[in-house]
Amino acid sequence: MAEVVSPIDARVLARVAPASPDEVHAAVRAARAAQPAWARRTGSERGRILHAVADLIEAAVEELAETETRNTGKILSDTRREARRAAGSFRYYAGWAEQVRGETIPVGAEYHTYTAPEPHGVVAGVIPWNVPFFFAAKKIAPALAFGNACLLKPAEETPLTALRLAGLLTQAGVPEELVAVLPGGRETGAALVSHPDVDLIVFTGHHDTGKAIARAAAEHLTPVALELGGKSPQVVFGDADLDRAVDAVVLGVFASCGQMCIAGSRLVVHESVYDEVLDRIAERVRGLRVGDPFDQDTDLGPQITSAQRDKTAQFIAETRSAGRLVAQAALPDDERLRDGFYVPPTVFDRLDAQARLLREEVFGPVLAVSSFRDDAEALRLADDTDFGLAAGVWTADIARAHRFAGQVRAGTVWINTYRVLSDLVPFGGVGLSGYGRENGTEAARLYLRPKSVWTSLAAGTPQGYGLGGAGAAG
Ligand code: NAD
Repeated sequence: MAEVVSPIDARVLARVAPASPDEVHAAVRAARAAQPAWARRTGSERGRILHAVADLIEAAVEELAETETRNTGKILSDTRREARRAAGSFRYYAGWAEQVRGETIPVGAEYHTYTAPEPHGVVAGVIPWNVPFFFAAKKIAPALAFGNACLLKPAEETPLTALRLAGLLTQAGVPEELVAVLPGGRETGAALVSHPDVDLIVFTGHHDTGKAIARAAAEHLTPVALELGGKSPQVVFGDADLDRAVDAVVLGVFASCGQMCIAGSRLVVHESVYDEVLDRIAERVRGLRVGDPFDQDTDLGPQITSAQRDKTAQFIAETRSAGRLVAQAALPDDERLRDGFYVPPTVFDRLDAQARLLREEVFGPVLAVSSFRDDAEALRLADDTDFGLAAGVWTADIARAHRFAGQVRAGTVWINTYRVLSDLVPFGGVGLSGYGRENGTEAARLYLRPKSVWTSLAAGTPQGYGLGGAGAAG
């Protein structure tokens, strides 16, 4: 039994039995058996059931958000929004269920050729602990909409709302064996992604785990999409609207206690506004309230585990000698929270280019600031990372903004905004941030594969290959 601990006060919330490799195997077999009947249902039938899931989530938002806040330490307004967004994802993909189409391809008069998109079969979703309920929805909803079965492994630290989602799915009419939530840690995840009967792996998590999963997937040539971490830059030019930029920088790195893949953890500011931006951010950071995430006045709660807290504390400790500490918020002064996993939001500048804080993902509330002189240097600093998940650019010059967006190496670029995401807009990374795209039309590409069907229209004996646009190959 694995203990599920609340980071708010280190209290044990539940004990959850991890799924054993045998249980994983049984779940894969059951899902494989259930999937063809699900795929044969009409899109509107699948869509109706996904809408029913969304209804049940919407009715349970408060309960889900409270459980999520207790389990993750994220503030209640965030977990409420995530639960609503999860319902929105089920509705969005419910719409897609009826929109699946192939294409006819006119290769020549002798052939009628078309593509028929079909589901992969059994999808394995493996997710991290930072957005547990929403990520569970984001893997399960498209998998089901496009006719797949889905086996989801939540993070060992945060299985509670994913397990609750499994109950809501059954209540809404999703066939019981079509979806399974398999709690557990590395062993359960490894058993799932190395299973020969898994047809697609969609993973969100750390790049080291992503590499291990890609290696396991290679054994059976299972297709895999990897949504990994980031060290994303926010670039502020001298002509930017500083009120909005400062706001977005603070929220972009300190929300969720910095535990966001898209955290804008490197701030790059033009020298003409550097002091002003730094002063404003320092003032905001000193005023951030770290504390009980159920308290309405709290800006950020604890980190997820004592290990994550220690990792962040280690970054802060070592950067004290590798840079200048610009500002730090206070830790909560509350006896009830004494055992919780809190860390102070912290800002550093004057860092050596090789400082670990500039190169590695902290997944904690720590911001590294540097300055630039011209556009070329801004781009060079923004790209000075192995990651490539996201970037923000702040400027009133629209041409400069789009030049930057076109050149920066990142899966998502935000111009004069940050951290907005939508089910409609593709999302994914480059480099160490992974490969594959989720959301929007990319979800249809990810969760379906096209089958090409050729029909001969020739009268009599076919004359062989090479007719029209078609040629012999293979
Ligand atoms: P993690 O990689 O340690 O764990 C993620 C999941 O993988 C967990 O469920 C874990 O049990 C499982 N796992 C671990 N080893 C496995 C193995 N060998 N085979 C199969 N599954 C295995 O990540 P984490 O620490 O939980 O989450 C933080 C990381 O996730 C950060 O790097 C963050 O940037 C990243 N992340 C990325 C995105 C994105 O969309 N790009 C979103 C959120 C978080």
